Amino acid sequence: MHREYVLASGNPGKLREMAEMFKPLGIVVRPQSEWQVPEAQETASTFVENSLIKARQAASRTGLPSIADDSGLVVPALQGDPGIFSARYAGEDADARANMRKLLEKLEGKTGADRNAYFFCALVLVESATDPAPLIATACWHGKILHAPRGEGGFGYDPVFGVVTSPGQGPQRSAAELPPNKKHHLSHRGQALRELVRQLRERDGGFA
Ligand code: IMP
Repeated sequence: MHREYVLASGNPGKLREMAEMFKPLGIVVRPQSEWQVPEAQETASTFVENSLIKARQAASRTGLPSIADDSGLVVPALQGDPGIFSARYAGEDADARANMRKLLEKLEGKTGADRNAYFFCALVLVESATDPAPLIATACWHGKILHAPRGEGGFGYDPVFGVVTSPGQGPQRSAAELPPNKKHHLSHRGQALRELVRQLRERDGGFA
């Protein structure tokens, strides 16, 4: 069986990752830009709700089933900030460098558990804009906020996100210092993607 899903994102990296993961299930993923769907207004206060808003808009505008994700960095010592505002933490047009600078300033003088943080990803799949039973996969990637940026890879907060590989030990590397396949394996998005694929197999296996 061959099925098509619209991806409610214009990010080519996400499209590539998802296309690879869904191919073995006979699913083709196409970006919403092919239908000129504009970015949805993320008006809710959680990652899950915002990803549902995006998925429903893409499904409603194209008439096709859709997949959307929403992600960001959560710092418990900052009451969950930057959270759903991760992309625009330092202002509407802020770039990653400005966002990281603001985060490091907010954490100045803080040590130990106060520098704990996690990336969170919500990934949802709807069969239509009114699907009463969306599939929802969420995942966390825990780490520590470093004192200064390190590394050239990745994007967003990767240079200040210290990756903890053995529990109880401090971070050895930043997420921006990981090879892409290693980051994909560990990350919130990689984990959520694998979980969504698992849910989809389980749901559709029920029709046997
Ligand atoms: P989006 O869900 O891809 O729009 O991501 C929202 C924002 O969260 C990004 O602009 C980044 O600031 C941050 N973010 C999400 N995932 C990552 C990641 O894997 N590395 C670094 N920053 C991330």
